[in-house]
Amino acid sequence: MEECLFCRIINKEIPSTNVYEDEDVLAFNDINPVAPVHVLVIPKKHISTFFAMEPGDELLIGKVHKAAVQVAQKLGLNEKGFRLVSNCQRGGGQLVFHIHYHLIAGRPFGWPPG
Ligand code: AMP
Ligand code: ZN
Repeated sequence: MEECLFCRIINKEIPSTNVYEDEDVLAFNDINPVAPVHVLVIPKKHISTFFAMEPGDELLIGKVHKAAVQVAQKLGLNEKGFRLVSNCQRGGGQLVFHIHYHLIAGRPFGWPPG
């Protein structure tokens, strides 16, 4: 998946500011933050969208979700809270086709989202 931006970040071919890493998951600051806290949490396995998940990947996605909560905890967001968003397919706003969650916090968020 050499053409995938996030795989290149995982392989350290493109620099990133990492805030969490384990054998399955990487979290790093978004290059174009939309809030004071904007971290991307991704599986190290290349999965383009939720529709491309293979049997067993649900465990991995659970690990990604858990890592996001750990990052939120580390950033002191337990009380303040956060939003965890994943855009799926172009219609959902997805630009990078490697599953990722946006962990955003630090300002008020409206609902429904724009
Ligand atoms: P999405 O629209 O959900 O696919 O989000 C893709 C996100 O990747 C956007 O928030 C971008 O700002 C972010 N992004 C793009 N390139 C980089 C990069 N080199 N490092 C960190 N974040 C990036
Ligand atoms: Zn990838």
